[in-house]
Amino acid sequence: MYLVWHKGNLRLADHPALLEALAQGPAVGLVVLDPNNLAQASPRRRAWFLANVRALRRAYRERGGALWVLQGPPWEKVPEAAQALRAKGVYALRSYTPYGRYRDERVRESLLVPLHLLPAPHLVPPDLPKAYRVYTPFSRHFLGVDPPLPAPDALPQAPEEGEVPGETPDIPLPEPGEEAAWRRLERFLEEGLSRYHRERDRLDGAGGSRLSPYFTLGVLSPRQAAWEALKRGGEGARKWVAELLWRDFSYHLLYHFPRMREHPLDPRFASLPWQEDEELLSAWYWGKTGVPLVDAAMRELHATGFLSNRARMAVAQFAVKYLLLPWQKAEALFKNLLLDGDTPQNLQGWQWAGGLGVDAAPYFRVFNLVEQGRRHDPEGDWLRRWAPEYPSYEPQDPVVDLLEARRRYLELVQRLTRG
Ligand code: FAD
Repeated sequence: MYLVWHKGNLRLADHPALLEALAQGPAVGLVVLDPNNLAQASPRRRAWFLANVRALRRAYRERGGALWVLQGPPWEKVPEAAQALRAKGVYALRSYTPYGRYRDERVRESLLVPLHLLPAPHLVPPDLPKAYRVYTPFSRHFLGVDPPLPAPDALPQAPEEGEVPGETPDIPLPEPGEEAAWRRLERFLEEGLSRYHRERDRLDGAGGSRLSPYFTLGVLSPRQAAWEALKRGGEGARKWVAELLWRDFSYHLLYHFPRMREHPLDPRFASLPWQEDEELLSAWYWGKTGVPLVDAAMRELHATGFLSNRARMAVAQFAVKYLLLPWQKAEALFKNLLLDGDTPQNLQGWQWAGGLGVDAAPYFRVFNLVEQGRRHDPEGDWLRRWAPEYPSYEPQDPVVDLLEARRRYLELVQRLTRG
């Protein structure tokens, strides 16, 4: 018997470790409910994760197989399962985040049998030996995509172990599982892909695929998505794959610069006069800033767990550049509201939008939040839906004067970067 440890990667298709284990002999799946991840996650994020574990268990069962679900530190639970099953080896996909790499090593040290870690199907391996801080040269490593691997038709019979606990989310969740992710992908390929390059900036997010909650848990792999998009071709597909490459770029950044969890990638920005102001932080978090674009975005996020990329950029920029809030606090709060909340992507997004050193994003570019609203929600439908008290994108009694805050920020960064 072999053990396939799903640490994320909650899918059967395009799973190199699962296929490799099955090539050696019968295999059982394992998900460990790791307190390190789950204790910090908000109820909506825990519920989304558990719903997808349940869906994976159903998929195992439908093919005659078994998925074990154990609760505890992985370096205890993986060896426990391996011993109980008398497994000859454990197969999993390699992790690239700081915690993921630490976890892999501790599990390897605690096991009496070999741990085989296979490269996860990224479009560009995050662990390229050369470290890039800028996206374009990183993205040139993308040389095309290999066909994704099929899901096994049948899985070996084995006893099942462990329960998937219940969790009540505070918002409605999307449909979990691989089949639902595929349906969403197919709909996007049919209806959205060819328009993606023109519509991706819409504040209502209707120009995108909304697949990110599935990618974050590995219910769908970027290789599957890119393969299907490039089969269709066109400008929309090229742009979409470029965004999937941003995802890999964020993994690459955190792999090479783990400091960016707490520090700006460009250390000069650490000395900005960050304002420990709980009232301002709370106004931003609850969408009560008097700035219509920011308030609509934060309220949508609370209500749905999702936000368009354009709206994410705006609220992160507002928190960092206009309010000078300690970005690490805002970033963590923001991540816990997102169903797709993902450490590398969220850090990259915050440090990019906040001009803290990711990519060539010019720190002196400060969004005009009135213009952004008018341009990317021209009919005002999105604003009316999420912040109906505002008749337009003009601020009303805002927590900061936008012009003044912009001027203050620009002066500060000019001083920092001149020295
Ligand atoms: P699509 O436009 O359909 O793009 C397809 C996929 O490409 C996405 O699902 C995502 O996996 C990837 N992608 C798209 N844009 C980006 C990007 N700018 N950076 C990295 N990957 C991208 N994405 C997350 O998945 N988790 C996060 O925690 C997260 N936090 C963010 C925080 C900020 C401040 C910003 C500016 C962006 C953040 N993003 C994050 C990236 C991006 O906003 C979302 O991935 C995207 O909006 C999801 O919508 P979609 O699935 O419709 O994307």
